[in-house]
Amino acid sequence: MPSLAVIVPPGQVPEGPPWYAWDSVSSWLQTWAPIIFMLIIVIVLWRTLKLMPKTKPAEMKPSSSSSAGWGDVAGADEAKAELQEIVEFLRDPERFRKLGATVPKGVLLHGPPGTGKTLLAKAVAHESGAHFFSQSAASFVEMFAGLGASRIRRLFATARKHEPAIIFIDELDAVGGERGGGQDSEREQTLNQLLVEMDGFNSRGQLVVIAASNLLEKLDPALLRPGRFDRQIFVSPPDVVGRQEILAVHTRGKPIAPGVDLEMVARQTAGLTGADLANICNEAAIFAARSRRDMIVMADFDAALERVVAGMQSRRTLNEHERRVVAYHEAGHALCAELLPRVDRVHKISIVPRGRALGYTLNLPQEDRYLKTREELIDYMTVLLGGRAAEQIVFGAITTGAADDLSRVAQISRSMVHDYAMGTSLSALKVDAEGGQVSDRTRQMRDEEQQHFADEALRSAHRLITEHRDSLEALASTLLRDEVIERGTIESIMAGVPRIARGRAGGGLRVVAVKPAELPV
Ligand code: ADP
Ligand code: MG
Ligand code: ZN
Repeated sequence: MPSLAVIVPPGQVPEGPPWYAWDSVSSWLQTWAPIIFMLIIVIVLWRTLKLMPKTKPAEMKPSSSSSAGWGDVAGADEAKAELQEIVEFLRDPERFRKLGATVPKGVLLHGPPGTGKTLLAKAVAHESGAHFFSQSAASFVEMFAGLGASRIRRLFATARKHEPAIIFIDELDAVGGERGGGQDSEREQTLNQLLVEMDGFNSRGQLVVIAASNLLEKLDPALLRPGRFDRQIFVSPPDVVGRQEILAVHTRGKPIAPGVDLEMVARQTAGLTGADLANICNEAAIFAARSRRDMIVMADFDAALERVVAGMQSRRTLNEHERRVVAYHEAGHALCAELLPRVDRVHKISIVPRGRALGYTLNLPQEDRYLKTREELIDYMTVLLGGRAAEQIVFGAITTGAADDLSRVAQISRSMVHDYAMGTSLSALKVDAEGGQVSDRTRQMRDEEQQHFADEALRSAHRLITEHRDSLEALASTLLRDEVIERGTIESIMAGVPRIARGRAGGGLRVVAVKPAELPV
């Protein structure tokens, strides 16, 4: 590149260094700017061209490298059983064809993130020995306009040449969300092309399209029509047996000390997904390595669990008064949980701040439960409000510490009235709440019923804590001394205090569907 000094004609050099010579700079620009401009364009074009062929072969080549088989997927028994059919079809299509059976061409795996959908698709490929073409739907639409549709076309064309084959489209939501508005035409074109391709091949050929999505409800209904993704498999978070199996898979080949009780870990992780459990096993190994052990012990799993469930240990420090408030707050939760027969046992109480929580009480579910009664939900709210109640009784003051508890109480009481119609008969008329067609009077009644449930729980928390003040003091002072207390200590503190056997309220058993109990209170 020529320097300025060379270009500026000698006669025009003004005083000062040459780079102040504006005139000469502009004439220099006039000469060179178009050339530089052209060069930039050429470079950009060249780079783009270099990029494009790079992405092409990547999607053309099937990746049979997937080494995950059924043995690596634990817990998802129903999904596995359904997918086994696809595996058999790909292995031996004749068997099905002879009987005139058509096997679905599109299978949609849906369920919360981390439940193993991607893993299941890989396992199908591995077990069937079919060529595996895997693409994330997001990658169809991320680069150039119009490219998504042509990529889909090419993907199907290539896969058809490699039958038996599986096309796996991960995160289908990225293109498959409901159409509308027409603002996102690139996404729509891609989706349309996908629909065209799905319609265009018949399943007598050995090609199966598997897609994964987190939310079935969000998908464009056109995708779910017959002949497209008409087989839908829900992949749910694992139950306690499934969790134990998943933990076994992810501790395979790791040096596990004899005292490690994976069943215990499984029981403490209701609601967590396979991905969370894999994470816990990995964290446990990291803890063991950091402690320079050559085996992973139970304490490593406890630490990993706490880290995954409650977040990293926070550096926040509390002053003495705050520590006392937190100790009584957590003791209040724990005391209520111990006294109420329908609530899970307390596994651990801690006033070591972690993540956003200043302290926490870990409940240990006896079993996974999907149905809860009105009374159980009230008891659960009583436990949630036990923290606030203890603060009020001991310190006569209300702090901000119960914010999380309160919002969960609000959620539960709201569901009790709005979703499960557990209030009076009036609110059981489940008027179309979404449409906003509820009369002011109904809305007011619902608010009152909701308030009534929460009040009932708060009153019961106050009563329990007042009646068992000595147990509360014992729990809180032990907490202040040890910061963390485990099941054994809780049991010895509570020894001799019977759980309250409250009779069931009249009106029979009302059951509702709720998620398995969440962990930290
Ligand atoms: P999704 O696609 O549903 O979001 P993934 O298949 O990506 O979930 O799961 C992430 C990781 O979590 C997997 O690679 C695996 O290590 C672990 N995992 C999830 N579910 C299971 C399961 N059922 N059995 C064993 N491991 C699992
Ligand atoms: Mg996935
Ligand atoms: Zn609390």
